[in-house]
Amino acid sequence: LTSGAKPDISREKSAQLYEKAKTFFPGGVNSPVRAFKSVYGTPLFIEKGDGCYLWDADGNQFIDFCCSWGPLILGHNPAKVREKVIEVMANGMSFGAPTALENELAELIISNNKYIEKIRFTSSGTEAVMSAIRLARGTTKRDKIIKFEGCYHGHSDSLLVKAGSGLVTFGETSSAGIPKSFANETIVVSLNDKEALKKAFEDFKEQIAAVIIEPVPANNGLLLQDKDFLQFVRDICNENCALLIFDEVISGFRVGFEGAAGYYDIQPDIVTYGKIIGGGLPVGAYASSAAIMSNISPEGGVYQAGTLSGNPVAMAAGIAQLTELSKSGFYKELNNKTQEFADSIQRYATAKNYKFKVFTIGSIFWFAFTDKDKIQTAEDIDPASMEKFKMMHKELLNRGIYFGPSGYEVGFISAAHNKVDLEKAKRQIFETLDLVF
Ligand code: PLP
Repeated sequence: LTSGAKPDISREKSAQLYEKAKTFFPGGVNSPVRAFKSVYGTPLFIEKGDGCYLWDADGNQFIDFCCSWGPLILGHNPAKVREKVIEVMANGMSFGAPTALENELAELIISNNKYIEKIRFTSSGTEAVMSAIRLARGTTKRDKIIKFEGCYHGHSDSLLVKAGSGLVTFGETSSAGIPKSFANETIVVSLNDKEALKKAFEDFKEQIAAVIIEPVPANNGLLLQDKDFLQFVRDICNENCALLIFDEVISGFRVGFEGAAGYYDIQPDIVTYGKIIGGGLPVGAYASSAAIMSNISPEGGVYQAGTLSGNPVAMAAGIAQLTELSKSGFYKELNNKTQEFADSIQRYATAKNYKFKVFTIGSIFWFAFTDKDKIQTAEDIDPASMEKFKMMHKELLNRGIYFGPSGYEVGFISAAHNKVDLEKAKRQIFETLDLVF
């Protein structure tokens, strides 16, 4: 960057921790994108989070727009969640038997969501989606699934085909270690491409168990779809007796309490949740009609289980967080705040003629280095534009603003980001844009 760039923050302790981590973990991390492979520098080791702020091991303070990749819609360490977790933990951490807390979280969710009747809790989004796919296959007695290029649905075998951020970041569209025969059961089509979807259904007549989509695709940039396309996906599933799975691991409880199903008012057959549902602890879930869910073991023949499923401490965090979200006006305020933030950055960039767009929905936003007004498919993103993101990422860290370490990742705003924080962040973003362009 040219003059005006801020000096690099100290990363001494983080660098030492990273060196040590590399002796224990492949790539020094327990999840690939954390390794900072697609941005400058080495990963920051985080020591503490509070509200919208993060502190790393070197004592640097940041306004956080990654928010643990989405779960922290109330910000870091909110008192209501922390207190409930501590209260429940006092009685023990896991029983492997039902608890009233599972009922409480399920009731909170189902009574505020007209698109689902029954739910099953898992311990991660990956598990939820994997189980939803099995449920769809078990219900329809068909094997093939259709997914969309750029949509990420966790790291299970049949879904790691053209799957977004972590994989785009590493220049791969798939993973080693997946039998070709598994991948053969997954048909990949482009988002926003009705013809391709139609053709897939024609080519594999009566073989498609389900179409899975992130109704708000947010793992390969933010590829917002028109409602018309999502409705088309719904209709073509109906015509072909295939199930529609909405993967709402990111969009669930994010674009509204009822997620994207509610936002677009489209009824999916199965919905998956993760991230926000667990209040920062490991929870996933899949949900559907009572009829479809009756196919799950022990009621039906589709097996799925988990030692820590419905873990009481995790349920407590979910209950505490979702209780706040269910209060009237929560989403209106958060979404308006995000829209204002995005609009004002867009106005700045437009006034300066920068090739830069801010895409946003709910409290999700994404910075794209483009002059296109819409980016709806993975192919619409110019990989060369990621160079600018890398520069921006480094400069923003030096200015106390933390973004996920990949230009294909979206940003999140939490209820803890107040007006003053957002103004502060905006000023740094404006100055960084001036340096990058
Ligand atoms: N589905 C979507 C849409 C996701 O964004 C993710 C994670 O980012 C997953 C599934 C997998 O969830 P987890 O990382 O909890 O396994």
